[in-house]
Amino acid sequence: MGIPLIQMYRVARYLAGRKLRGAKRYPLVLMLEPLFQCNLACAGCGKIDYPKDILQKRMSPEDALHAVDECGAPIVSIPGGEPLIHKEMPQIVAGIVARKKFVYLCTNALLLSKHIDEYQPSPYLTFSIHLDGNRHRHDESVCQEGVFDKAVAAIRLARSKGFRVTINCTLFAGEDPDDVANFFDEAMQLGIEGITVSPGYSYHHAPKQDVFLGRTASKHLFREIFRRRRGRPTGASWSFNHSALFLDFLAGNQTYQCTPWSNPTFNVFGWQRPCYLLSDEGYAPSYQSLIDDTEWERYGVGRNPRCDNCMAHCGFEGTAVNDAFSHPLKALKLSLLGPRVTGPLARELPITYGDAPRLSAAIAIPVSQVRRASRETDEHRHEVQPH
Ligand code: SF4
Ligand code: SF4
Repeated sequence: MGIPLIQMYRVARYLAGRKLRGAKRYPLVLMLEPLFQCNLACAGCGKIDYPKDILQKRMSPEDALHAVDECGAPIVSIPGGEPLIHKEMPQIVAGIVARKKFVYLCTNALLLSKHIDEYQPSPYLTFSIHLDGNRHRHDESVCQEGVFDKAVAAIRLARSKGFRVTINCTLFAGEDPDDVANFFDEAMQLGIEGITVSPGYSYHHAPKQDVFLGRTASKHLFREIFRRRRGRPTGASWSFNHSALFLDFLAGNQTYQCTPWSNPTFNVFGWQRPCYLLSDEGYAPSYQSLIDDTEWERYGVGRNPRCDNCMAHCGFEGTAVNDAFSHPLKALKLSLLGPRVTGPLARELPITYGDAPRLSAAIAIPVSQVRRASRETDEHRHEVQPH
């Protein structure tokens, strides 16, 4: 299994075209958030603490597809909130598939069995199922018992119907590398195509703040996990939905700055500056304005305190892919040998921020108008009426 050749070919062709045209900043994955409402309230989630009226907002299929066309990325990831709550999600997905873009529909899977027949299996559609670990670990992460079993049942169902399926696994503080390795074995044996994995970004909007890993702890954890990759007793081999260089970065062997423009984010407020993870920096009125007017130099490791612990794929996979284009032999060697798990860690980027971050002059929607709910709307999160 692994990413199909057609997807690798199309993405490589797209990237080569952008490189040949000398494009400085170009999108790889559009992060499309068509709603913020969810039927779970996970401890590490920084996406759902909005007031009820904002949680009930839905992006129209027209706006979603306009964003897809405006941006032009070859891959569209649809997180949320929980996308399957959105009644018009099948139209949005069908429109993206018709454009021959590769869609990753990210879901906690609680509603998948109910809605699966609204979707058609396609090489362009993948269900990316949220699964943060084994039964105990995942149910703890999503703060609800029984979710792991439902997600596993949904994976089996989707595979039996011929859909592409990956899992989306976020790692938090207190992970046991043996447990993670065993979980990866079990996940692969479900017939999934691959694993998307990242350390959790330390959202300051998340309900719990003690769940996040620091940067150095993340690197050591990934080394310990990758060390266990060889000679798995079950014979399972792990496929990751990442480039070999991104995995090497997670293991602490690459000094990368993030490329937030590689994963531009469009949600019910517009184009979010600068990235999927930072949601208090304002919105751009168009994709072009996002690219042209965002003060990119204010963001990234060492440039902004909120970026200090970030190793998320939405910031660094684009960097790794760029590096692979510039150094194909290095990338090939790593894809054959896997990440290095011993020796010194690569140097960290220097801290260059000191002053309080300035407000962008190009904010389209003032942050003051994007209300966050504090914690008093917890009761609203569970008021979702699955259709
Ligand atoms: S499933 Fe959990 S992490 Fe995902 S949007 Fe819902 S609450 Fe947030
Ligand atoms: S490091 Fe990049 S991707 Fe991560 S929060 Fe900062 S700007 Fe966003």
